Parts: sequence; C-alpha cells; structure tokens
Amino acid sequence: MRDNFNNHSSAFAHRSTKELKQLVRLFWLLSNPRISKIGVQLLKHFGHIQLPGLQHLQRWLFHPFYAGTSLQACESTVVSLSNSGVHSYLNYAVEDISTDSEFDTNCEMVQKLIVHASKTNDIPFSVCKPTSFGHKHLFQKINAKQSLNLEEQIAWKKVINRFRSCCQIAQEHGVALLVDAEEYSMQIATDQLVLDLMREFNLNKAVVYNTVQLYLVDGNHRLKQMHMQAIQQSFYLGVKLVRGAYMEKECKIAHKHGLSSPICTSKSETDMSFNAAVDYCIKHLTNIAVVLGSHNEESMIQAINLMDQYEIKRNDDRIWFSQLLGMSDYISFILANEGYNVVKFVPFGPMDKLIPYLARRAEENSAIAGQTTRELVQLQNELKRRTRLANER
Ligand SMILES: Cc1cc2nc3c(=O)[nH]c(=O)nc-3n(C[C@H](O)[C@H](O)[C@H](O)COP(=O)(O)OP(=O)(O)OC[C@H]3O[C@@H](n4cnc5c(N)ncnc54)[C@H](O)[C@@H]3O)c2cc1C
Repeated sequence: MRDNFNNHSSAFAHRSTKELKQLVRLFWLLSNPRISKIGVQLLKHFGHIQLPGLQHLQRWLFHPFYAGTSLQACESTVVSLSNSGVHSYLNYAVEDISTDSEFDTNCEMVQKLIVHASKTNDIPFSVCKPTSFGHKHLFQKINAKQSLNLEEQIAWKKVINRFRSCCQIAQEHGVALLVDAEEYSMQIATDQLVLDLMREFNLNKAVVYNTVQLYLVDGNHRLKQMHMQAIQQSFYLGVKLVRGAYMEKECKIAHKHGLSSPICTSKSETDMSFNAAVDYCIKHLTNIAVVLGSHNEESMIQAINLMDQYEIKRNDDRIWFSQLLGMSDYISFILANEGYNVVKFVPFGPMDKLIPYLARRAEENSAIAGQTTRELVQLQNELKRRTRLANER
C-alpha cells in the first residue's frame, strides 16, 4: 500500500492542472511556519470582516477546503468525489453560535442534510457538533458535576431534544450521524449524552457515532469503557477515531487553571494512542463500527494491515476511512481505488461563519510540517509528471 500511496496519477486524477497549481501555492504558504502563523492570526482577527477584496482572497485561499456557501453549491463536489469512488458527508460548518434560535436553525439544517443524504448513495453519514445544539457552558457544568439551575435544566432538555430528533430522522432515513468531539472540558458530558442516544438508536446497528480524540491521555480508557457499556447493555458502539484538533487551546486552558494538560506529552505518544485505538476497534468489529478520521499514512497502513490480518473485507460497512475535503486527497483516492470505504468531510456555509473551521485547518497544517510537506511533494511530483507528459506529446 505504501507504494500505492506514491502513485500520483490515480491520486490526483480528479484535479485539473490549474487546481493543482493553486494547491501547491497554498500548501507552500502553509508549510512556511512564519507566513502561516501570521495568516492564521489575521484570519482569526479580521476573517469575519466582509470586504470584497478580502472575501475574494479568502475564497481563493480556502477554495480547496470547503464546497461553497450553500447546499446546492456542494452538488458538484459530491459528484466529483463520487466519480472516483469517494463518498461525502456534508457539514454546515457554522461555529461560535449562542442563541436558542441559532441552535434550532442548526438542528433544522442537520435534519435537512440527513434527509438530503438519504436520497443518494454518495452520502452515507451526517455530522453535528455538540456546541451547534447547545451552549458550551451547559456541557461544562454537567462535566464538572455542577447542578444546573432551572433555566439551565430547560436549556439542557432542549439540547437533548435536538440530538434525539436528529437521531430519530437519521434512523428513519438509514443515514448514520457522527457527533464531533470538541474541548476536553465538555467531553464527559458529551460521552454520556451520546451513549444514551446509542442505547436508544443503536440496537440493530450503529446509527449514532461518538468521537474519541486520541491525543487525550484518557482516550483509550474512555473508548474501552464505552465499549464495555455497549456489550453489557447490548447496543452497537459507533465511534469516530481522531487524534484531536484543539491542542493549542487545551494547553492554554490547562496552563491558565494551573492544571496538567490532558493531552499526550509528545506526537509519538499520540500516534501510539491513536494506533492502539484503531487496533482495538478493528479487533472488536462484532459490536463496534468505526470511522478512522485521519490524514496519517502510517495509521492508514496499519489499519489496512489489520484488516488483512483479521480477514475483514475491504468494503465492510463497519469500517470507514475519512479525510477532510482538500486534505490528503491522495490517501482518500488511492484507498477508494483499492476498494476501501472512504468518506470525505465536506464543509459548506457562509465564508465568515467558516472562519473558526478554516483557521483550525490552517493551524493544523502549519503545525504538522511533516504532513504538509509530504502533501506538497506529492502535488509537485504530479505537476512535474503532467508537464513531462505534455512535453513528450
Ligand atoms: C474526518 C475527520 C473528522 C475529524 N473530526 C474531528 C473531531 O470531531 N474533533 C477533533 O478534535 N478533531 C477532528 N478531526 C481533526 C483531527 O483530530 C486532527 O486534528 C487531524 O486529522 C490531524 O491529525 P491526523 O490523524 O490527520 O494525523 P497527523 O497529521 O499525523 O497528526 C497531527 C495531530 O497529532 C497531534 N499532535 C501533534 N503534535 C503533538 C504533540 N506535540 N503532542 C501530542 N499530540 C500532538 C494533534 O492531534 C495533531 O492534530 C477530524 C479529522 C478528520 C480527518
């Protein structure tokens, strides 16, 4: 498989030469730590400002990472991915919201996206963020075992109802719902909520999936605890495994409160933790369904080797590989080409509302010089290959 990951032509067949050149420029910028650090700060502080020139620049910069401003605009991305055997799931990537009416609007959007997904084989999953259904402080209070006042109890009931209504629709329409993981300070509350939903909706198969961030020291422990509950209470555990996207934020929060960071002390520890979780899930597919959300080649190769070892069919619907739109396309397309289940996370929405998501991607890319450089080299090699072919003609 490692050799296959170097097969550029099949990995980039879906990209025009113009798009490849744009990606090279973008990843070159991201691979330069100084430029990308300044860029991320500018994006965070001024990204919401709606100046025509700035919007044009943002669209140019972030075009590969999002599908457009409306559901309709996603259509061409979904079709183009599907033509290469890659599935999609659509995310209305609006973050940092705080009013009841915004939470309701988001819930309606998730429901609409579930129904939309059910009309095509190209979109097997839907996705939601806990804080798109309720305020962060509610999750944090429950997490810290603090009691809620009457107003908060009513608000929490609404959060549960928003989740339940989405799960209900997901079940009725045969679409699975992934619940994202966010900050550690709200994760125990999220786990409890999503496990309750699994008890209700995952009786015959995984409809609802929780996310486990394996950069957390307690990630594997929580994964096993959830699995034990699934065994004891006879439901299927749906789980998305990721390394985790809030590293800097978590370190700052821990530092501010004089606590030790909940995150593994090194990248290699996170890698070991992630790979152990992959191993655990693949070994227990009798009652676990897993989505591997990662751009890490080594982890993907490990998963494939384990599937071989346990004689699991490549297209077994209990195991999906997943990458973000515009990132590690070569991994997604090659895996799909080899017959594995692959699904791309496809965000869309108004540009100013997408800023927190895009800033995380830019931060992530600049923080992981290794992966970004690998991506850049792959893109440059493909461009060279195409130029050579054109010259030979
Ligand atoms: C489909 C999909 C869904 C996702 N959903 C979520 C989600 O719900 N919640 C969420 O938080 N993230 C989510 N992510 C993002 C994910 O958590 C990672 O940030 C991102 O994928 C990069 O990790 P990687 O596995 O691709 O591999 P790599 O590029 O190999 O790893 C980078 C990651 O390693 C960890 N890391 C880096 N340096 C260190 C260090 N010094 N010490 C300890 N750990 C370190 C960090 O988690 C960093 O993001 C998702 C990613 C994908 C592809």
